[in-house]
Parts: sequence; structure tokens; C-alpha cells
Amino acid sequence: MGGELEASLVELRHTFTSGRTRSASWRKNQLRALLKLIHDKENNIFEALFQDLGKHQVESYRDEIGVIEKSATNALDCLDKWMAPTKRRLPLLFFPAKGEVISEPLGVVLVFGPWNFPISLALDPVIGAIAAGNTVMLKASELAPACASFLAETIPLYMDSKAVKVITGGVDVGEQLLQQKWDKIFFTGSPRVGRVVMSAAAKHLTPVALELGGKCPTIVDTLSSPSDIETMVKRVIGGKWGTCSGQACVGVDYILVEEKFAPTMIDILKKSIKNMYGDSPINSKYLCRIVNKNHFERLHKLLEDPLVAASIIHGGSLDKEKLIIEPTILLNPPLDAEIMTEEIFGPLLPIITLNHIQESIEFINSRPKPLTIYAFTKDETFMRQIVSETSSGSVTFNDTIVQVFITLYIYYCFIKLEFHFLYIKGNILERNQLKFSFVCLQFVCDVLPFGGVGQSGFGRYHGKYSFDTFSHEKAIMQRSFFIDLEHRYPPWDDFKLKF
Ligand code: NAD
Repeated sequence: MGGELEASLVELRHTFTSGRTRSASWRKNQLRALLKLIHDKENNIFEALFQDLGKHQVESYRDEIGVIEKSATNALDCLDKWMAPTKRRLPLLFFPAKGEVISEPLGVVLVFGPWNFPISLALDPVIGAIAAGNTVMLKASELAPACASFLAETIPLYMDSKAVKVITGGVDVGEQLLQQKWDKIFFTGSPRVGRVVMSAAAKHLTPVALELGGKCPTIVDTLSSPSDIETMVKRVIGGKWGTCSGQACVGVDYILVEEKFAPTMIDILKKSIKNMYGDSPINSKYLCRIVNKNHFERLHKLLEDPLVAASIIHGGSLDKEKLIIEPTILLNPPLDAEIMTEEIFGPLLPIITLNHIQESIEFINSRPKPLTIYAFTKDETFMRQIVSETSSGSVTFNDTIVQVFITLYIYYCFIKLEFHFLYIKGNILERNQLKFSFVCLQFVCDVLPFGGVGQSGFGRYHGKYSFDTFSHEKAIMQRSFFIDLEHRYPPWDDFKLKF
């Protein structure tokens, strides 16, 4: 294994130094090849995601296939602009001179993918790395084996196999990879392994981007309009159980709500869960399963604490065979219980009541900086207070997840037209309906940076931010031989000092 890995790395390095990955045409061809792979193998991806996580096709399209289609298409459309040098106007002092910044590829980069979005979160950084002209080694997660095999088998068939490689395997493979010298490591995973990655990278002064996790709080202000309450509840459900059963880094981890509003919210939450997942959610085809036995046991253990168990007000059933846990709500579990100190990463939703919603700020600030904060409120002053008095990777008001998955208008129109066209032909395929609903609802937002702060990580990606993450911004100054002030050079004698 060690020898094979080193040989792969030598090949990636050789390809990079050959210079072919720097051309715009190579980068575009690779992005087109990736798009073709996604189109040709859509059904295989659906199947792999179902095998690994029981993901429904709508969710798989929305959060995985569509994300990659969108991201690669956007990179293709914008690549020339991203690659173009940017001119900088220099201060008069430098006259005569020209200044510009060019984006230079970093070299050979290593990308670690997680298991919860095993296609999109593996390939989205790869898109950034290729767009920026690097060669890439992708380490797929061993906890999503069907997706990892799919990537390892198909990527070499479509893309430049001397420039983009996929490696499968577990912790041992991860450790071996970290012993090597890379020009950048892009890691998506837990804060625990993030520390391992960073200390290994320090040995070679390798820059890292760490896309980590944590607890994402959701503040729910007291809302008065019934339709607002209903929308809020649906969006909370979408950001908890509707996204990989809560196994999402940006999933709603817990809710902070005023005590007086909690009963109304909980009542509607329970009714909406029933509407979406039926009377027996454990048998619902719309809920993902827990990724494996270990994670199932971990979540089960969180509920075994007697004080936590006593706080369950909805759900709580588990199916050990199918690895499914029904949507479960807990009211005021102990704040020092593991469910409130560790990232839940599963379908359990604690609700913490406060006397005043403003206390939510202190609550959040007394814990590690989250990847994202959600807040449902119409109070503009409170919104500004949340933004200025807390620190998190991002803040989203009045929705969940959309800072990651949101529509771009032009793409939306395009798909909408496609939908109408198919409709007129009387040939509506289920998948195109999926595309329609998906694009209407959620999509990767290319114009906002995505990443954490503090314990939720650092580094930014999506759209141009991905390109920048895998590039070095090189400053170029071009001076002229014209005009040379002697005063720059010694000897600084009296004559020079006087004038
Ligand atoms: P993980 O940290 O357990 O594993 C990630 C990768 O690291 C895997 O490929 C694994 O094989 C490898 N690895 C594990 N131990 C290693 C070691 N000692 N040395 C080298 N490599 C090692 O993470 P996970 O369980 O796959 O994902 C869940 C975590 O990822 C959660 O904390 C979640 O919040 C976070 N996450 C973050 C984002 C984001 O975009 N910020 C997205 C998805 C998941």
C-alpha cells in the first residue's frame, strides 16, 4: 500500500510539474468530464447513496448530484474570469510601474471527504482544486463504502487519471496520506481528526482548510402569525430530519426558544412531523438511516442517560436492524449531558427554553463557535445583535441549510424552462420533477463563502471561494528602468539627507 501510494503521489507531482494542468482547456475538459460522469452515472449514484445511507432520490439529487452539477457548471462558466489576472492601481510613489495579482495553482492537493454527503462533499472541493489547476488525491470516506467504490471506479474512467486520483480505505490510509508532503490539505470531518490533520501538515508547513462540525443552534423568536410559525417549523424539520436525518454539519442541532412560545411551537412541530413522515416515521422512506452500527449506538447512548430519557416529549423509537431512529424531540435535557455538549449528528432535537430570547446570545457565546447559527425572527434589531454579538461560520435568518443549498436564479430559470418543455411534450419524468422541486428549494450558494470559525474550522469554499482556496494569489509588480532616485542607496551622506 505504502509503495502504491507513493507511486501515485509521484505521478500526481509529475503531472503537475509537466504544466498541463495549468491550461484553461485542461481544467475545462476535466470539469466537463466530471459533469458527464454525473449525468451518465446518475442512477449508480442514487443506488450507492441508498445503500450507504438510505437516501431518498429527491434528497440525493438535491444535496449531492445537483450540487455537483451546479458547482461544476458554475466553475466552467466562470473559469476564464477567475483565471484572469487582476490589475491593481499602484500608488504614485511607485511610478512608473504596473501591478497585478495572478492566481497560481498550489500543486498536488489532498482532499478528505466525509461520509454524510459522500458524493457532493468529496467532489465539490475537487472541482475547486481542478478549476485552480492542481492535481488531486481524493480520500473517500470508508463509512460510505458504496459511494467510495463508485468514486474510485468511475473517476479514472472519465477524468485525467494521472491528475485526479481516488483512494479508499480507513484511518490507516488517512494516516499514511498525512505522512506525505502535499501542497494543500482540504479536510472535511470531525474536529478531533482535524487536529490530527493540522499537526501532520505542520511538519511540511502545508496549508490546510478544515471544514469541521459542531453544534448549530437555532434561535426561534416568538412569532405571532400562524403561517410564519408553520413555515418556521417546516424549515426546522427540513434542516434537521430532512437533511440526512440530522447527520449534517449544518443541520439544526438544538433550538433556543422562549418558554411562553415553546408549547405552540412544539405542538405544530409534532403535527408537521406526522404530516411529513406519517404515523410510523421509522418506516418512512423519506428518512435516511444512521450510517452504521457505531453511530447508531452512539446516538442510542445519548438517550440512555435517565435525565435525558425523561426529557423526551416526542418519538424516541429506534430500529436497531434498519439503523433508523424516529424524529425525536427532547425538552430541556440537562445542559451538562452529552447531548448538549457534543455535536448530535443525528435525528434528536433538544429544545431549550429561555425566559427572554436575548439570552440565546449568551447561551451561544458560552459554547464553542458554531459552523452556523439559524435564527427565526422578524426583529431587525435582534438580527443585528445576533450578527454583531456572536461568532460563527455563517448566520441564516428565517431558514435553515439554504446558506449551503440555495438556488441561483439563472439556473432556476433554465431548469424551470426544461420542466415546462417536458410538460408540454407530456413527458414528465420523475427525475425532472425532482430537479424542479430541488431547484425551487435548495441549492449550493456560490456567491457566499462556506466555512467555519474557531472550533468549526477555517478556510472557505464554494464558487470563486473554492478557486481561491486552491490558488496562491501571486503579486506581480513590473517597474521600469526609467527614473531612479539615488536617495534609496547609501551612502546617506549630508548631501542626500538635506535633499
Ligand atoms: P472523521 O473526522 O471521523 O473522518 C473524516 C476522514 O478522516 C475519513 O476519511 C477518515 O478515514 C479520516 N480519518 C479518521 N481518523 C483519521 C486519522 N487518525 N488520521 C488520518 N485520517 C483519519 O469525520 P466523519 O465521521 O467522516 O464526518 C463527521 C464529521 O464531519 C462531523 O463532525 C461533521 O460535522 C463534520 N462535517 C463537516 C462538514 C463541513 O462542511 N464543515 C461537512 C460534513 C461533515
